[in-house]
Amino acid sequence: MKSVSIIIPAYNEEKNIPLVHQELQKIFAACPNYTFDIFFVNDGSSDNTIGEIERLTAIDPNVKYLDFSRNFGKELATTAALNNCQGDAAIMVDADLQHPVELIPEFLKKWEEGFEVVVGVRNANKSVGILKKIGSKLFYEIINRIAEVKVVPNTTDFRLLDRAVISEFNRFTETNRMTRALIDWLGFRRAYIQFEANERIHGDASYSFWKLFKLALNSFISLSLLPLKLAGNLGVVITLLSGIAGFYIFLGKYFFHWHFASTFSDSENLAILILFMVGIVLTSIGLMALYIANIHSEVIDRPMYIIRKKKV
Ligand code: UDP
Ligand code: MG
Repeated sequence: MKSVSIIIPAYNEEKNIPLVHQELQKIFAACPNYTFDIFFVNDGSSDNTIGEIERLTAIDPNVKYLDFSRNFGKELATTAALNNCQGDAAIMVDADLQHPVELIPEFLKKWEEGFEVVVGVRNANKSVGILKKIGSKLFYEIINRIAEVKVVPNTTDFRLLDRAVISEFNRFTETNRMTRALIDWLGFRRAYIQFEANERIHGDASYSFWKLFKLALNSFISLSLLPLKLAGNLGVVITLLSGIAGFYIFLGKYFFHWHFASTFSDSENLAILILFMVGIVLTSIGLMALYIANIHSEVIDRPMYIIRKKKV
């Protein structure tokens, strides 16, 4: 029998822990061909989340957990769970029941069909504000333009990962990470399942607009060096334009006595000289970006390639 770990990051979810456990029991009963365990990660909650989890471990031997010393964020909570879970596959769900666990049998079906990653795609989220909606649209727009991995819009962390994918995922060492983007980077055979996000029952969404904004900015920086390279490109353009202008004025004034070239005042000439210097500085920053890019890719120490199967 195949085993499946249900991974649940939890930050201040004391009311939702028993609920999600109860909902999952129904699903487990409907899938008798698998053994399940529930893997909670208490991400430094300030409420009694850990108490609720421990209470469950006393009555259900299939409940496992990690208890973080402080809040590290959902990305690292799911990472820790993936690093430590035992199942032949893992399914990540939110503790707040916004991911419909009724779909788990469908995820398993896709897995049996040979897909190694099954991704939940959100149709609509009733409780999401307009600011968050626009923000997320913008985020996907930008990241797909600048980052080296393509991120499919509205894909969520509600995912199934095969053991082969988990083993590869466990090789990532970077701390600033977006779990979803890393899984996308890994490749493998992927299937998508549409779902409608439920309303959150208890507590508040802890990802505020600003927390998401920070996460987005972090993703841009860790997935792309475009912002720095832009400075370099701007520098090249400024240097070229002001260089040409300066050269034209120099030749026209002192050698050919062109009328237009001699109409430039001293301060205008100075302005062009300064622009030229600024252009050189920006160009150098762009060059440094290339070196940083090199260092960056060595430091995060990503696996160089990913192998699905091996026969040697
Ligand atoms: N979460 C976490 N650490 C955090 C913030 C959130 O582990 O610092 C968990 C949270 O308990 C929930 C999931 O991540 O299970 C999604 O969080 P939330 O519902 O706040 O975000 P949203 O629904 O807006 O994606
Ligand atoms: Mg939520």
